Amino acid sequence: MALTSIDFAQEIRRRGAVGVHSVTFRDNRSTLWSLTQGGAVLNVHRAYRNAPPDVLDAFVVLVTQGGVRSAASRRAADHVREWPPVLEAMKETRRRHAQGSRVLGRPRACCGTKAQQAYVRALFRYFNETRFAGSLPDDIPLRLSRRMKSALGHMRPAGDGNAGRFVAEIALNIDLLLPGNAAERIDTLLHEMAHAADYLESGHRGHGSSWRRWAQIVGCRPTTLYDRPVRFRKDRRAIVERVPPLPEPLQAL
Ligand SMILES: [Zn+2]
Repeated sequence: MALTSIDFAQEIRRRGAVGVHSVTFRDNRSTLWSLTQGGAVLNVHRAYRNAPPDVLDAFVVLVTQGGVRSAASRRAADHVREWPPVLEAMKETRRRHAQGSRVLGRPRACCGTKAQQAYVRALFRYFNETRFAGSLPDDIPLRLSRRMKSALGHMRPAGDGNAGRFVAEIALNIDLLLPGNAAERIDTLLHEMAHAADYLESGHRGHGSSWRRWAQIVGCRPTTLYDRPVRFRKDRRAIVERVPPLPEPLQAL
C-alpha cells in the first residue's frame, strides 16, 4: 500500500525525524530527494511512496543530519539512491520525458509572466498535496493561454496504455487571473487536475463516472466548464498581468 505524503511524514517523525513538518512527492528526472524550508520540508521522488522500513530509516538519518554531512549520512544517501524501485522509476521518468518531447515537439508557449507561472505552480503543488495526496506528477507542464475565448481550460492527454500515459499539459485561460474569478479559477484548476488524475489512472478523458469520482474526492463541481460565471477581459488585445494573491495557507509556505 503506497504511503500518502502525510503517512510518510508521520512514519519518519515516529522514527525520530521530528524536525520534518511535511513531505512532498515529486517526479523529477534527476533529484531523488531534497530538504527545503530549513529542513522542515522533505521532498522525495514519488517512487518512495512505497519505501520499505529500511529506506525510511535511511531518510531519518539524512533528515536528522540535515543532509549528507558524515559517513553515516553518506551511507544513508547511497542506500536511498540504490533502492531498486527508485532506479527503475528514474529510468521510466527519463524515458517518458524523452518520448514526450518526441511526440509533442516543442511545448506550446505560455503567455503568462514568470510571476503568474509561479502562482499557478504554487496552487498546483498545494492542491496536489492537500487534495490528491501527492498522486499527480509534480512536473506536469502548466500553461496560461490568452487565445482561449469561452473555454476555461483543458488537460492534454498523451501516450497510451502500452507505452505509458502521461499528461502533456494543463492549460488555463489567462482571464481566470482577473479579479472576481477566484472561485472559478480554483474550480477550473481542480477540474483539470481531476482530468489528469483520471486519465493517468483509468485512461478516460471525459466527464464520466471515473472523473466524477475524482471531482467528488477533490471537491470541484462535477460538471463541465460551460456557462460558468467568469469575467473575461473586454479588449481581447489587452495583456493580463495580474497575479492574484495566494490563498492564506500558501502564503505561509
Ligand atoms: Zn472537463
